Amino acid sequence: MLLRAYQNVSFAMRSVLLRSKLSMTDRVSVQKPEGSEQIHYAEEFMNYIVFDLEWNQSSARQSREYGLPFEILEIGAIKLNKRLKVIDQFQAVIKPQIYHYIHHITTKIIHLTEEELQNGKPFPVAMNEFLTWCGRDFVFCIWGTSDITELQRNMMYYGMDMLADGPLLYCDIQKFFSIAYEDGKKRRALETAVDFLGIEKDHPFHGAYDDAYYTAKVFKRINSYKPRTKRYVSYDVFIAPRTEKDEIEVNFKTYAKYISREFPDKTVAIEDKKVSEMKCYKCGRAATPRIKWFSVNGKHYYCVSYCKRHGFLKGKVRMKKTDDGSIYVVKTTKLVTKEVAQEIAKKQDKLRLQRMEKRRAKKN
Ligand SMILES: [Zn+2]
Repeated sequence: MLLRAYQNVSFAMRSVLLRSKLSMTDRVSVQKPEGSEQIHYAEEFMNYIVFDLEWNQSSARQSREYGLPFEILEIGAIKLNKRLKVIDQFQAVIKPQIYHYIHHITTKIIHLTEEELQNGKPFPVAMNEFLTWCGRDFVFCIWGTSDITELQRNMMYYGMDMLADGPLLYCDIQKFFSIAYEDGKKRRALETAVDFLGIEKDHPFHGAYDDAYYTAKVFKRINSYKPRTKRYVSYDVFIAPRTEKDEIEVNFKTYAKYISREFPDKTVAIEDKKVSEMKCYKCGRAATPRIKWFSVNGKHYYCVSYCKRHGFLKGKVRMKKTDDGSIYVVKTTKLVTKEVAQEIAKKQDKLRLQRMEKRRAKKN
């Protein structure tokens, strides 16, 4: 169990640290025994690349035609060292190649003039400059989850080498903000976080560089308030794990996460031994099933197991679809109270009743 976690962590690090020449043994960090979080990446060697993108959104028809809903028009970034001190900055404007009209529902307001865009660089050139600037040893940090997916989608569109062969480890500063100051779930606008922390607003908002600048400031504040927050890393599953050895298994302090390889369909997925098994993430012991996996809406599955030492474990499986229609699974395991376990039992009963009534209604 611990060994697998190691392998997956080092896989994720390999993904992020593609260009690194340091040997892996330098970077494999210690997983401490029960109850304490493991360190997910080699903080002592690493820079943080905080970036933000501006993009143009296509219409639904264009998106189907080109397979690229968002064309990146600007990359802005701040490089922080391991102490989160700003050591460099980066900005590149990209000349639009695909969509030549700024779409009216573009979610990210474009601040660039037509002239600036026309003087921009082709995406592959700008992206290669960006990666060279990033250096060898880094982890990406963004506000939210979408920028990292769209970055990879644009790279794939242009046939560039991808950042990883599977899920890509990154830090979602928006999530960190919620973990540090709220419930870990609420998602706030960057400007709200800046206001909340009383950070001086000496730049405008919504430019790629400016948003990266503020994201870096918020990250720094979170880190000085609760430094352990940065262990709650995220994985972007633009590329799902292809084989079992590419799968992701990580233990956080309060839950465990597993990202499976691809399966042909949901039934095969939920019946897979690795997907359905429940282990206690505190002690590694197999937990005894109390409520078997049941589907809530065809996408989400729940179960309850019991660890003799640590109590009730809630399992949740989310079925996710890849671009080519395969299924992969994101499973989370969490220790819960007896009351929460009872809630899940009630939920299952309710669903059973509903299904029985439906069947009866069909017969009549
Ligand atoms: Zn246990």
